[in-house]
Amino acid sequence: MSDAEPLPISALQHWAYCPRQCALIHLEQAFDDNLHTLRGQAVHAQVDRPGFELRRGLRVERALPLFNDRLGLIGKADTVEFEPDGTPYPVEYKHGSRHKAAAIAACDDLQLAAQALCLEQMTGRAVPEGALFYASSKRRRVVAIDAALRQQVEHTAAAVRTMLDAGRLPGPTSDARRCHGCSLRDRCQPEALARLARGADGDAFDPGADGDAFDPGPDDIG
Ligand code: SF4
Repeated sequence: MSDAEPLPISALQHWAYCPRQCALIHLEQAFDDNLHTLRGQAVHAQVDRPGFELRRGLRVERALPLFNDRLGLIGKADTVEFEPDGTPYPVEYKHGSRHKAAAIAACDDLQLAAQALCLEQMTGRAVPEGALFYASSKRRRVVAIDAALRQQVEHTAAAVRTMLDAGRLPGPTSDARRCHGCSLRDRCQPEALARLARGADGDAFDPGADGDAFDPGPDDIG
């Protein structure tokens, strides 16, 4: 068991989207709403009440608390379907369409994989697959919890812990398109920071510092 403070699974997704966004939320406890976050909250309101039901013979748990002691992760699964043999199948709800840019979909995949690793430790059963349910499309996208995704969970958790231990905000993402949908844009001021970096001390606000190893690409969620 890790002695460190448990890390919310959401921090991994935030880091994958933008390390600075992750630091603002999890280091500085800053959070602002915008249209994207409000839509996300509306979707999650459907599955935020803890409980269970039976669907097509499967037990389906809602708002299931999650943990993985080895990785020091905690979180909550929107829904977990339990196969007849007890194998858990996490299904995470997202607003928007299932046809997201691949790089942004990868942030969702990472979150789902972290949930799967928690469920494996909690139940002692392998979780080879899960799904993301996109509210606008009303369709699932199945995600294989493969070795690469598992490794990415481990690396991202370590990177977030390193950032939290250092207590230092990373610079803004080098992909400005991500800033358009980010609810923390006013607080972050990425354009001003980029100007400062160009004009003064380039190292202080290097958008590639710490973050790009886990930066999966462009899009506009926040
Ligand atoms: S505005 Fe851009 S750089 Fe700042 S936290 Fe959001 S995504 Fe990251």
